[in-house]
Amino acid sequence: MIDKFLKNSYGISERVLELAKIADQKAAAAYERADKICQYNSLRVLKAFGDHNVSEAHLGATTGYGYDDLGRDTLDSIYAEIFGGEDALVRHNIVNGTMAIATCLYGILRPGDTLVAATGKPYDTLEEVIGIRDGSSGSLKDFGVGYRQVDMIDSKVDYDSLRASIDGTVKAVVIQRSKGYDWRDTFSVNEIGEIIKFVKSINSEIVCIVDNCYGEFVEDKEPCSVGADLIVGSLIKNPGGGLAQSGGYIVGTKDAVEKVSYRLTCPGIGRECGASLGNNRTFYQGFFMAPHIVCNAVKAGVFCSALFEELGYEVNPASDDVRSDIITSIKFGNESSLIAFCQGIQKGAPIDSFVVPMPWDMPGYENQVIMAAGAFVQGSSIEISADGPIKPPYVGYFQGGLTFETARLAIMVAAQKVIDCNQN
Ligand SMILES: *Cc1c(COP(=O)(O)O)cnc(C)c1O
Repeated sequence: MIDKFLKNSYGISERVLELAKIADQKAAAAYERADKICQYNSLRVLKAFGDHNVSEAHLGATTGYGYDDLGRDTLDSIYAEIFGGEDALVRHNIVNGTMAIATCLYGILRPGDTLVAATGKPYDTLEEVIGIRDGSSGSLKDFGVGYRQVDMIDSKVDYDSLRASIDGTVKAVVIQRSKGYDWRDTFSVNEIGEIIKFVKSINSEIVCIVDNCYGEFVEDKEPCSVGADLIVGSLIKNPGGGLAQSGGYIVGTKDAVEKVSYRLTCPGIGRECGASLGNNRTFYQGFFMAPHIVCNAVKAGVFCSALFEELGYEVNPASDDVRSDIITSIKFGNESSLIAFCQGIQKGAPIDSFVVPMPWDMPGYENQVIMAAGAFVQGSSIEISADGPIKPPYVGYFQGGLTFETARLAIMVAAQKVIDCNQN
């Protein structure tokens, strides 16, 4: 029944149907692992909602200054508890993940301090925040904050260089959990714990900040549980559960979160103000759904790895690797396959499936970029999406999928298109 539907409605060939079955068999253990983590995280979230007596009163809107916003303040406590911190700021007006990280950096660092990046060059959008790119007005560099970058060796932290980079001026170290647009392994929460332990053994006062984007709920704990002082992410990725329409979160120690709150609003006001408007309902429901939605995205990633392994491609992570984020990268080796892949993913999206994505000159990027996105929330990448820069070795990045069933279809359509384009 299903195979016939896939064949008739989406033109999936016998070969891809057959490979998809093999892929599912290969992925069985990884699916089961994801289900177990989902079960555990779902129960933890449910219990936190109960412990905090979440009720209809928490879901409503506040306006104006937003003093005593019960929904906002309680959700902060729930995020803090679930992510292993002491305090949190969950806000719709943290406009994206970049702002969440930047807010932490500006909240902690002062003129004369130095920031160290322990896991190589941070995510592209942070270059202008830090001042790595010349002429970015208002960067940390503009404010007299120094920066040192410890590049990785073979996907691993270069501990000797990290030690050498830490002198008396270093106030904060930033660690990126996810691979982002790099071909490297994602750090597990335990590996992040080792990096933090190393930094703290040199100077326990250094504030360790983890860019946790794409990692939330993929494991059974988050980096605050292994010593991170601050972790941050975007609500249109994992923790928004596909329902949050905008926003970001910051979780950490009481002291660090308080400092950051004075940057988020202003000194003296901190977390006391900031009306949640109408966002509480979707933030709560999204967080409640998030473990399950993330599980779907993880399984989609596993299936994607398994299917493209069967087709002979190098993928990262491999189908049986333990995952710590929702990104799967595939080395296509030629431009037309990467384009075909993204066009196939687009066809399997619920919104804008009729659109055919093409490479374009995206501002801020050296090469052309192709992006597939068909989401209910613009730019949301917990929803199914794929992208890649048009340059050798033509790596495509796949992430998201609100439902495993539909993401699985999109991946099969993409595989079919890649096969077809290589036969022409
Ligand atoms: C998404 C992401 C960010 C932040 O990106 P925004 O588009 O600003 O939300 C930062 N770091 C990593 C690793 C990411 O994946």
